[in-house]
Amino acid sequence: MNKTIKVVIGIAILCAVAVAGYYGYNAGKEEEVAKNELFAMDTHMVFTVYGENGDEIIADSMDEVVNLENQLSTNIASSQVGKINSEGQGILKKDGAILMEKSILLNKQTDGLFNPAIYPVVEAWGFTKEEYRVPSQSELDALLPITKIQDVNYDKSTGQVTFNKEGMAIDFGAIAKGYTSSKVIKMFKDAGVKSAIINLGGNVQTLGTKPNGEKWRVGIQHPEISDGYLGIIDIEDKAVITSGGYERFFEEGGKKYHHIIDPRTGSPAESGIESATIVADDGTLADGLSTSLFIMGKEKAIKFWRNSDLDFQFILYTKDGKLLVSEGIADDFTSDTAPIEIIKKK
Ligand code: ADP
Ligand code: MG
Repeated sequence: MNKTIKVVIGIAILCAVAVAGYYGYNAGKEEEVAKNELFAMDTHMVFTVYGENGDEIIADSMDEVVNLENQLSTNIASSQVGKINSEGQGILKKDGAILMEKSILLNKQTDGLFNPAIYPVVEAWGFTKEEYRVPSQSELDALLPITKIQDVNYDKSTGQVTFNKEGMAIDFGAIAKGYTSSKVIKMFKDAGVKSAIINLGGNVQTLGTKPNGEKWRVGIQHPEISDGYLGIIDIEDKAVITSGGYERFFEEGGKKYHHIIDPRTGSPAESGIESATIVADDGTLADGLSTSLFIMGKEKAIKFWRNSDLDFQFILYTKDGKLLVSEGIADDFTSDTAPIEIIKKK
């Protein structure tokens, strides 16, 4: 995971710094840049803001990230989610309530592949405590009936969550970082920032352009080449969020097991996709869909995109070494590591 971060940050930040210098030269004054780092949500995060008061603006946003983690983490017993999971019921407030609503919607939109109730299965594989093991199929078959979203009762007006079955649990891990990056970018915007880039463990979101008006250049981690990247995407005002089987996994008996679970089987998704990147305005949507398209596999993902009125573009890297790039970002994406097939809407 650290390598992912280094590469992407390397590119994003190097460019940002280089460009700031260039801008300064042209404009006759150096554009102010503030930068800070934080380890939260099990992720190395880097915040870069151009313009005045950047240090304070970043400090406020880092406080908010910690606040979000304390509300939403499954690993923090006192969080809203931690309490609901240990007590079998509870209340979701503010950000927790927003994430629940988004998760239920995404579950519907993806025919159940995005599933915030999959947590008991994620736990059985040991991903929650890094005590990895391969559960037997009978163990998984016994757990799958307690992962159905229809058995999660959520009352929108009160935020009350109850479960129909014992042992059920919820987890917003597949959208929390995208939600966080969107929220931070919104805070930057509200504080008057015009140019910023944040990197939450390889998931990048940008505000505006680089100070000189050029697009940000964001590198996407190559799943097989450490310190190498699949390609570079040029963006402004967008989130670029990747899900990959290489990010969190363990090996047993010569086989790799990763942390993105196919809710139909209870096992790590084997869809023929190595990594799924989503580019969208909305970080929460991008995070939710990167996990979902990874599970769908190539054909289903393309069909989903073609039929969906959700506003997003994708970069899929397949197990046979090909890049599938949706036409809306094809002109802004380059790769010198793999052949690109452009996918058209129709
Ligand atoms: P990461 O958070 O590592 O960048 P993802 O956004 O793809 O990657 O989220 C993976 C996490 O989401 C897992 O660690 C697990 O907690 C949870 N998860 C696993 N499978 C699913 C699923 N089918 N639907 C929703 N969440 C899932
Ligand atoms: Mg995700």
